[in-house]
Amino acid sequence: MKYSVVIPAYNEEGNISQLVAKISVVMNQLSPDWELIFIDDGSKDKTLEKMREERQKDSRVKIIRFRRNFGQSVGWQAGFDYATGEIVITMDADMQNDPADIPAMVKMVETGGYDVVSGWRSMRQDSLYIKFLSKIGNWLRRIVTGDKTHDHGCSLKVYKKECLDSIEFYSDLHRRYIAALLAWKGFKVGEMKTTHHARKYGQSKYSVRKKWKGLLDLLVVKFWMQYSTRPIHLFGSLGLAISGAGFLLGGTLSVLWLLRMISLQNRTTPLLAVLLVMIGLQLLMTGFIADTVSMTYYSTKRAYTVELLEGFEKPGE
Ligand code: UDP
Ligand code: MG
Repeated sequence: MKYSVVIPAYNEEGNISQLVAKISVVMNQLSPDWELIFIDDGSKDKTLEKMREERQKDSRVKIIRFRRNFGQSVGWQAGFDYATGEIVITMDADMQNDPADIPAMVKMVETGGYDVVSGWRSMRQDSLYIKFLSKIGNWLRRIVTGDKTHDHGCSLKVYKKECLDSIEFYSDLHRRYIAALLAWKGFKVGEMKTTHHARKYGQSKYSVRKKWKGLLDLLVVKFWMQYSTRPIHLFGSLGLAISGAGFLLGGTLSVLWLLRMISLQNRTTPLLAVLLVMIGLQLLMTGFIADTVSMTYYSTKRAYTVELLEGFEKPGE
């Protein structure tokens, strides 16, 4: 299979049939060898029925239905698990992304040397408030992760299949950070300005409250990038520094007290020394636990990504 288009949809009954029509036209121009994988993310409206209608018309349309609502990025994960294309394309089901952008993005991946190309909604059609929030979000992300891409919230993305094995999905966390994480893993990430339409049918599923959660996600992603392999380096150094300060303070106080230079009656500093030592030790212990968790995780994963292999025979060839 050459191309897989992966589309999670949650209560999008009004969009499915037009979406498939638009995608079919574009994909057929690229190649007849494509599949469209819909993930019905536990919709409560007629989304599944609409998907089935499309599948009856064209068996290249495939359906995964979740038992309940899991969130868009979990939908992508399922789509990636079942996709057989060498190139995988993701986009929204609500027709805010324009399939007409796909061919140029695919070209960047096929011949432009990119592993991932991310859409950039340079003329975004959403409310001012949402655009403002997303500006702040993108700005913070750029500062914290050092990543230069303009718009990571855009679902329209084109991936080489081998990138997908390297994405660790974790709840809905990585919706915005997939490209940043792939860049961090050493994949070449590009971006392309894409068209963005206002939503015509159905409602946005992301409340503003949910969007704020993205800020916390950013901290997690930063931590993940910097310390996921060795969390003890963070917790350990903090812990040792803090308990070291506690020991130093306690030691100084003890010496001064022994020399009868100070009295310790009614003083809070000894308490502070004990507190620092204890907090420091707690942090150190947290580091050990975190490191053990990491060790367990990475023992089943590879911590590296390979760009090229020479002189090896692939199994089965
Ligand atoms: N979506 C999903 N599961 C969810 C929420 C959203 O599959 O729990 C899909 C939704 O159907 C749409 C895409 O994710 O195709 C983006 O959602 P939405 O348009 O509501 O987000 P916005 O464009 O407002 O950020
Ligand atoms: Mg939308």
